[in-house]
Amino acid sequence: MGLKLVTLNKKQRTIIEVGDLMIGEKPVVIAGPCSVENMRQMARIAGFVKERGAHILRGGAFKPRTSPYSFQGLGVEGLKILKKVSKRFEIPVVTELMDTKDLKKVSRHCDIIQIGSRNMQNFSLLKAVGKAENPVMLKRGMNATIDEWLNAAEYIMLGGNENVILCERGIRTFETKTRNTLDLSAVPILKGLTHLPVIVDPSHGTGKKSLVIPMSKASFAAGADGIMVEVHNCPESAKSDGDQSLTLKEFEKFMKEIEGWL
Ligand code: PEP
Ligand code: MN
Repeated sequence: MGLKLVTLNKKQRTIIEVGDLMIGEKPVVIAGPCSVENMRQMARIAGFVKERGAHILRGGAFKPRTSPYSFQGLGVEGLKILKKVSKRFEIPVVTELMDTKDLKKVSRHCDIIQIGSRNMQNFSLLKAVGKAENPVMLKRGMNATIDEWLNAAEYIMLGGNENVILCERGIRTFETKTRNTLDLSAVPILKGLTHLPVIVDPSHGTGKKSLVIPMSKASFAAGADGIMVEVHNCPESAKSDGDQSLTLKEFEKFMKEIEGWL
């Protein structure tokens, strides 16, 4: 079966309006911690990244962890923190939805709903967000081809929700120097095939904060519509993904380095 909705209408690019932002028209920076941990942490990070030019705040309340013993996220309490911080610092938020039963709550507490790599082919979840009001950021499955990824986007759009952002976050290969292999060729391929905005997540894509700046520059050079990056006020004690998170100071440097692309 070929793709229909996603590849259709190539003449006009999809521009997704989130507040004053026009995703797909002007590059965006999405920044924040892997997990929402508490109010103090979120307020500190949100205030800092907003001040330095981030457009959207990220933070997971429902966390898809490899080990069941790892921190699973604050759940609804985390959503409430996100909403409060979003209002206080006037910055839109993106957060992951893992289960259809939480759709209403997640939808009410965030601007953009994230579908994570591990759920890219969770078809009931895709169908559910296809009926949601919020734009959806669909991360690439770590084992997914570009066609499988586009078909996942098609599931969402078929439900009526055409506000889909694709996020390249690396795939599994035989390489072990990086957490995943960031497939930057996906960016121009997708920009040629679809009208959807494409953003890149070099934090999960490489697992190494030293690679975040060079891979972000490469993403923009490849035509990306934005970058999503993990930032933490104290990465050593982060409840998840501390090793790949930029400190606040490193985020400041990151913004200076990519300034020319924004
Ligand atoms: C995330 O962005 O919080 C995340 C869990 O990423 P991924 O689904 O790409 O692993
Ligand atoms: Mn993470």
